[in-house]
Amino acid sequence: MSHVFPRHTKISPPMAASGDGCYLIDTNGKRYFDGSGGAAVSCLGHSDTDVTEAVKAQLDQLAFAHTSFFTSQPAEDLADLLVEHAPEGIERVYFVSGGSEATESAIKLARQYFVEKGQPQRRHLIARKQSYHGNTIGALSAGGNAWRREQFAPLLLDISHIAPCYEYVLKAEGESAYDYGQRAAQELEDEILRLGEDSVMAFMAEPVVGATSGAVPAVEGYYKRIREICDKYGVLLILDEVMCGMGRTGHLYACEADNVRPDILCIAKGLGAGYQPIGAMLCSGEIYKAIEDGTGFFQHGHTYLAHPCATAAGLAVVKAILGRGLLDRVKDMGEKLQAALVAEFGQHPHVGDIRGRGLFRGIEIVKDRETKEPFDPALGLAGKLKKACFAEGLACYPMAGTRDGKTGDHILLAPPYIMTEEQIPDIIEPLKRAMAQIIPS
Ligand code: PLP
Repeated sequence: MSHVFPRHTKISPPMAASGDGCYLIDTNGKRYFDGSGGAAVSCLGHSDTDVTEAVKAQLDQLAFAHTSFFTSQPAEDLADLLVEHAPEGIERVYFVSGGSEATESAIKLARQYFVEKGQPQRRHLIARKQSYHGNTIGALSAGGNAWRREQFAPLLLDISHIAPCYEYVLKAEGESAYDYGQRAAQELEDEILRLGEDSVMAFMAEPVVGATSGAVPAVEGYYKRIREICDKYGVLLILDEVMCGMGRTGHLYACEADNVRPDILCIAKGLGAGYQPIGAMLCSGEIYKAIEDGTGFFQHGHTYLAHPCATAAGLAVVKAILGRGLLDRVKDMGEKLQAALVAEFGQHPHVGDIRGRGLFRGIEIVKDRETKEPFDPALGLAGKLKKACFAEGLACYPMAGTRDGKTGDHILLAPPYIMTEEQIPDIIEPLKRAMAQIIPS
């Protein structure tokens, strides 16, 4: 009997033995194409020697030094590189061990920022429905995904949720995409006014929504309006790029495509590419200065903050993304993958939408293409599809529709940036066979 507490107690997964580029190999020798990079993690594939060598060298040099006593060279170098390429105004990087720690840190930093500024009443966070910001209690409270939240309700109370910018489902008939985006953004202003102008500290959103909705970008103009509203009311803008950042969309930071400047930016997953657990919260110079001029101490810390081996891995990963031309490759391969998905599934009676940016693609499954009505979540189609894909040699991320009935089941694809055009069939063919078994046309 295994003593590991697994993620799903009713499923016994095969044992992963090794990795080879875009493939994972189990102990029986079966190869799986890593179609979602785990969960948008393994952006460089599974055998990148630049990264493994960097981690080994760091281990030989220095495995660990606690941040209450020391900084380390890889942490300094990685922070420099991230800030050099970051959106305007971002000046500091707080390293953590993963995505939930990054978003949790962001929420606490926003709170402490206003306390330091003598505005402790500004403690309300506005986030969006159908979002996921992580699993710690603060991050889970920020997330607006009903089924993930319900067991732990009521969660933190000073958080409310507005509608996401979700063109496929929420744009009205005859409405232009731009007008829809303005209408969606207006919900933020309405909610700020409802709560009281000086009680809101921050708005948090994923530039391209991942796990809950399947690679949903905002429409043009949405984030410009969001930024204007945040500026008007002195509300901080927190962008969660844990899944969509670090090159996944063809930009190092996903928000570049929306031309929006965050006050706080969260990254993880692709930053360590699976070679080490690492995340980061980046913040503006202004926020940092408020802490520096105030108590001088961000009242939040984790033992493994800025771990030397994790930051060494992150440094090698970001250098690889920038130095090997992978951002252009992601854009190019993303378009080829999109074209192949549309060619194969575009006419499927149960595929409502195929979308995304770069190598971050979503396929939305619907019962009825006309009405966009999703299948009953009780059918568990996403789980069945995931299992069938896996049996066919494709590890990918079908996700269940949320229970508010607005989103259908979807498939999230986030393959490694190193995938080739010749490997597109390693996604399409297993998916086609799995779809035929689970959702016949
Ligand atoms: N934020 C977003 C947008 C995510 O997609 C995730 C994980 O999927 C998280 C936060 C939490 O990251 P982690 O699982 O590394 O804690």
